[in-house]
Amino acid sequence: MTKKYEIAVIAHDGKKADMVQFLNKNHNILLTENVKIIATGTTGGKVEAAGIKVKKMLSGPLGGDAQIAARVAEGKCKMVLFFKDPMSSHPHEPDINMLIRICDVHNVPLATNEATAQLLLNALLIEN
Ligand code: PGA
Repeated sequence: MTKKYEIAVIAHDGKKADMVQFLNKNHNILLTENVKIIATGTTGGKVEAAGIKVKKMLSGPLGGDAQIAARVAEGKCKMVLFFKDPMSSHPHEPDINMLIRICDVHNVPLATNEATAQLLLNALLIEN
């Protein structure tokens, strides 16, 4: 059995609806046998409610971003799609910056807005 390509999805509150819409739009790429989606807790709940299979971590402010960073560091998570809301501040900013740094350390593709996320997924389609 080939290993699944693990993609983490995270969205700040103001971007959660956009994330669900984005995942639905890209169902041909994401909802295949080869992809496993993981998410921070609250984002994951919304994704799940839309009928998409997802493994939920803790909520972001409770350590969910840190858990995803650990999976990136361990080589388990291969891509991070993070819809950040630049118009609001977050109590767990240090964790968010840590996740971004860990992606840079391990050269793991990270999108922080929808346009970049779409380009990354398109690249995935071309690769396979
Ligand atoms: P959440 O976390 O999905 O649990 O809201 C997102 C975040 O890290 O801000």
